[in-house]
Amino acid sequence: MAANSEAPTPDSPDALVAVVSGGASGIGAAAAAALIARGVHVAALDLNPDEVAAPAVGIACDVSDDASVRAAVEQVVQRFGRIDVVVNNAGIAAQGGIDDNDDAEWLRVLNVNVVGMVRLARAALPHLRKSPAAAIVNTCSIFAWTGVPKRTLYSASKGAVYSLTLAMAADHAREGIRVNAVAPGAVDTPWITRVLAMAPDPQAARAALDDRHPIGRLTRPEEVGEAIAYLAASATGTTGTVLSVDGGIHTLRL
Ligand code: NAD
Repeated sequence: MAANSEAPTPDSPDALVAVVSGGASGIGAAAAAALIARGVHVAALDLNPDEVAAPAVGIACDVSDDASVRAAVEQVVQRFGRIDVVVNNAGIAAQGGIDDNDDAEWLRVLNVNVVGMVRLARAALPHLRKSPAAAIVNTCSIFAWTGVPKRTLYSASKGAVYSLTLAMAADHAREGIRVNAVAPGAVDTPWITRVLAMAPDPQAARAALDDRHPIGRLTRPEEVGEAIAYLAASATGTTGTVLSVDGGIHTLRL
């Protein structure tokens, strides 16, 4: 694995290449920007590739569909010739307890939030194995280890991402592929705007959520993006870590 100081420069033909799922919005877009600032080429794989901000390259991809993921990875390799970093970030929300969602809904959400990450990592694996600086970063959540009421399906999906991160780190360490995750709390992205819009008074709900965080505000997508870029491109001695980027909210009993 190359140390950060040995990383290729952006102009070098050896510049690293990252794929970022869900890279058109929120945390994924911020991760793409942070990686680009480190001289990494970024392909943002998203349902909405036209919304990807340049210089990241938008590529149509639905992580819930294996053929779509494999085709997107093939497109990235055709364009850039390599893949060094996978940011498994695409995810969807789910509300409710075990009796609020039927099997189909459970499988729909797990298919995106968990199997989607497996699919993209699996499709990229042959390319990561050739990289001198291979890394995978998964977007987990504080919900992986908290019992927030009526978020059962979403929490279970992120619990699986937590375990997946540790297991993949163990599986691929000797191949030189590091696997880590970030665990955000509430991040100020379009996602949280949609969640707050469901509250009777969205402004009051936002103020209460800000106040709940020890730092007195939601985390910014750029702060999570920076942590993802650090784990992906700088943290050469770190694998199997789930890094909280949550304004300290994991220190509280929720
Ligand atoms: P967002 O809604 O702003 O962005 C999500 C992006 O993922 C969108 O561009 C969307 O088009 C894309 N996407 C959704 N389903 C996809 C699919 N099947 N295939 C490809 N792309 C798909 O959300 P965000 O807040 O940036 O969330 C990103 C990740 O962060 C998710 O995994 C989410 O669970 C996690 N997260 C978010 C928060 C938060 O408070 N915003 C907190 C903890 C964890």
